[in-house]
Amino acid sequence: MQKLDVRLKQIPMPELPVEKRLQTFDEVALGYSEEQALAEAARCLQCTHPLCVEMCPLRIDVPGFIKLVRQGNYVEAAQKIRQENCMPAVCGRVCPQERLCVLGCKNVIGDPINIGGLERFVADYELETGVTIPDIAPSTGRSVAIVGSGPAGLSAAAELAKRGHHVVVFEALHEPGGVLTYGIPEFRLPKKVVKQEIDYVRRLGVEIKTNIVIGRTLTIDDLFDEGFKAVFIGSGAGLPKLLGIPGENLCGVYTLNEFLLRVNLMRAHLFPRGSKTPIRVRGRVAILGARGMDAARAALRLGAEEVCIFYQRKLVGRVDDIRRGIEEGVKLQPSTKPVKLLGDENRWVKLVELVKLKPGQPDKTGKTKLIPVLGSEFLYSAETVVIATDHVPNTVAAIKTARNVKVDEKRRTIIVDPETLMAADGVFAGGDVVSGAASVIEAIKAGKRAAQSIHAYLMKH
Ligand SMILES: Cc1cc2nc3c(=O)[nH]c(=O)nc-3n(C[C@H](O)[C@H](O)[C@H](O)COP(=O)(O)OP(=O)(O)OC[C@H]3O[C@@H](n4cnc5c(N)ncnc54)[C@H](O)[C@@H]3O)c2cc1C
Repeated sequence: MQKLDVRLKQIPMPELPVEKRLQTFDEVALGYSEEQALAEAARCLQCTHPLCVEMCPLRIDVPGFIKLVRQGNYVEAAQKIRQENCMPAVCGRVCPQERLCVLGCKNVIGDPINIGGLERFVADYELETGVTIPDIAPSTGRSVAIVGSGPAGLSAAAELAKRGHHVVVFEALHEPGGVLTYGIPEFRLPKKVVKQEIDYVRRLGVEIKTNIVIGRTLTIDDLFDEGFKAVFIGSGAGLPKLLGIPGENLCGVYTLNEFLLRVNLMRAHLFPRGSKTPIRVRGRVAILGARGMDAARAALRLGAEEVCIFYQRKLVGRVDDIRRGIEEGVKLQPSTKPVKLLGDENRWVKLVELVKLKPGQPDKTGKTKLIPVLGSEFLYSAETVVIATDHVPNTVAAIKTARNVKVDEKRRTIIVDPETLMAADGVFAGGDVVSGAASVIEAIKAGKRAAQSIHAYLMKH
């Protein structure tokens, strides 16, 4: 009898060896070779009712693009994804696939398919060989302003440009891309890839103006006065929530986004020869909060002797990235909470006081809160501290001046109509500024949905 040639195990994606990783900021996951991609694609069962598609916020035709991979039609496969998602090379790398498409994979006879790995393979192939620009609708003569150049703003911009509108993106920083540029480190998402994806959006006809803070340099009313007929706010959630404990303003204490921005955008690791922005990382580094894995891994690459993340319940991040961080030497201390930070005579941080936590009594819903264990306080000596708790939207600057836009005071998010994403007449919003800190793919989805509503609005006005 003939044996079935079905590979049960997922084809592993090659990675930079652990001993090489800390000497460089180069990407750790190296991507599939053609041979590996073909072998992984061959494992897909091509389900007729694919749950992987249902689990994808953008409903990408996963079996369809994998079939094209099998046939060696890599560009067509990439184009199939790009119809729904203007940033496949980004999402192939950073989407939390294990909670989305891969969770839906019904490959019951073996490991689920590495859908992200295949998406990355075809997207990189397309970027290498040159992305074809789709047909653009004839000009409508209408202009739309986009506030913020993160994934939400760029996906709204791309969709609107394809529909024939003139689109200008206003970005506060000197480089576009939002968190993709300033937050997610090079070793997870090379900036070359982000630039290539942004270049695609530019080639659709989108203009990107940097160093303009809407709400300060220009108000939203100014944008309408300049002739824009609609505005999309995709200004993200970049404002840190501090811990509210003594010592947070000591030298050597950074918030997560400041720390990552110094490295990713200002190249502080090259200071003083290659950058004017300094960063202090030496000795032991304490990361306070569950969102800290990127900062922890960056700190190890910047020469820290030891890096420990102190957090309460569960680390935030993709499973692979958490595994890689642990392999690289990041230490973890769950069920702990910082109490105060102590400095030396020059006000540089030197110690963190923490307390251990244990589950308290369950409430009526059965949920337990973590409560401090009496007398369990301990000290951790650290010369650098990164506060890596939640970030919230900075709605003040962008919104203060906008026509009747309402903000949820508690969550600091912009309130929109859930269907149309309209916040006020002619003003739409989406991405982290509406949802609070979420994900790249959700931001792209919000940008696309807003673009549909803006298009409908423009066609009536
Ligand atoms: C360190 C870190 C790692 C992450 N890792 C992942 C990951 O692996 N996978 C994943 O799916 N998600 C990840 N996320 C979450 C994800 O990056 C965000 O959910 C996503 O970027 C939100 O997109 P956005 O367009 O809404 O906002 P952003 O990406 O924050 O972009 C907003 C842009 O608006 C600009 N802006 C703000 N105010 C103004 C203004 N007044 N005028 C003009 N411009 C303005 C900002 O400078 C910024 O460029 C991570 C987040 C962080 C912080």
